[in-house]
Amino acid sequence: MDFQFSAGQLELIKAAKEVGERKLKPMVTESMSVEALHGLRRTMAEQGLLGLNLPAAHGGLELPLLDTLLVTQTLQKCAPILGGICHRSSTGAVGAIAEYGTDEQREKFVRPLCNGEIGISIGITEPEAGSAATAMKTRGEIDGNEIVLNGRKQFVSFVNYNQYTLVYCRIGSTGRASDIGAVIVPHDTPGFSHSNGTLNMADELLFELYFDDCRVPVENILIDGGAFGKLISVYNAERLGSISRMIGSAEASYEYALAYSKERRQFNREISDFQGIQWMLAEMRVKLDAAKLLTYRAAANAGAKGLPNPTEVSIAKVFVAKAAKEICDDAIQILGANGYTREYPLAHRYAEVRGGSIYGGTMQIHKNMIAAAILERKISQWKAD
Ligand SMILES: Cc1cc2nc3c(=O)[nH]c(=O)nc-3n(C[C@H](O)[C@H](O)[C@H](O)COP(=O)(O)OP(=O)(O)OC[C@H]3O[C@@H](n4cnc5c(N)ncnc54)[C@H](O)[C@@H]3O)c2cc1C
Repeated sequence: MDFQFSAGQLELIKAAKEVGERKLKPMVTESMSVEALHGLRRTMAEQGLLGLNLPAAHGGLELPLLDTLLVTQTLQKCAPILGGICHRSSTGAVGAIAEYGTDEQREKFVRPLCNGEIGISIGITEPEAGSAATAMKTRGEIDGNEIVLNGRKQFVSFVNYNQYTLVYCRIGSTGRASDIGAVIVPHDTPGFSHSNGTLNMADELLFELYFDDCRVPVENILIDGGAFGKLISVYNAERLGSISRMIGSAEASYEYALAYSKERRQFNREISDFQGIQWMLAEMRVKLDAAKLLTYRAAANAGAKGLPNPTEVSIAKVFVAKAAKEICDDAIQILGANGYTREYPLAHRYAEVRGGSIYGGTMQIHKNMIAAAILERKISQWKAD
């Protein structure tokens, strides 16, 4: 076991920090237009920050998963939108296309994504299928050389500035989880529409998607029925991507609060002189280190294919989602009223990591999965008939 980063990894972190702070952060503004976000994404592509773990044969850099997460975390520290774009264009929905797509699909979707020309959302959740994702009702019926989609998705991120959504839907007809496959749906397809979006706590829009006899060429079927397990095995890398974003935000909050505690004076001393503040800083640092180690373990063990062990991912997720909330909360406390205002970056960081306990499988669902692994048995959550 080696707890040191290699010289190459240290170089990668340094380079990502340098370009993130110097070139990209100045491009980030509070409410960015879709055009500005597209410009940012293209600049990140030019800087070699997209498609980090994706196959070199299709425009990616083919970095190991751990290195990919280190870059995501570093960019997230600079600004959340940078971590978000890096994650979605490396460990995001595109991972399933890179892993299971045909060569034609990889060329059509992975390469332009690595070039910063397109973005791909992921549509799994439905009104009646949240944690119980396999209860999804959106259906795809094959009709000649097209698949016809009908149904609805909700809480889908970044739809307004992406061009495609990877839509999970029922293709088979057994009524079981094994019916579920995935189709790449272009947003300009007739029969596809979306809501105007609902703002979440972190001021990001979450969209409803509507499929009304939405006809997509069969070439856009990524995986037909019978492959839900395969989709989820790639989704575990996506989970690690969003976990590394939480670590980036927690670390940024910790460092901000640490610096503030050395400058803010009360009772004629720096507030870092008070043991109450020192112990908070110590606890934040302990949680941050533990969060990183659990995440790096899951990534380092993912092997050459970059498919992590599901239990190691769930363990990292449960710990990091809680630790990140607590670290960001303590950082706000150290800043006092300043921390609670929008003039300082910590309230937004907190709002953003708060979502991590919900998306990508809630904390409770991940604990269910850890328990099933510990007890070595499948523990059905479904009410018996
Ligand atoms: C910021 C954000 C971004 C998102 N982006 C996307 C996206 O891009 N694409 C997408 O498809 N979805 C996305 N989602 C949706 C997300 O995947 C769902 O919110 C999540 O799966 C939980 O579903 P739900 O919200 O319907 O909660 P529910 O499933 O209704 O759960 C409600 C509560 O019940 C608990 N619960 C449910 N079942 C169990 C059980 N068996 N055991 C114990 N507790 C249980 C849950 O843990 C939770 O506390 C996003 C969500 C957020 C917050």
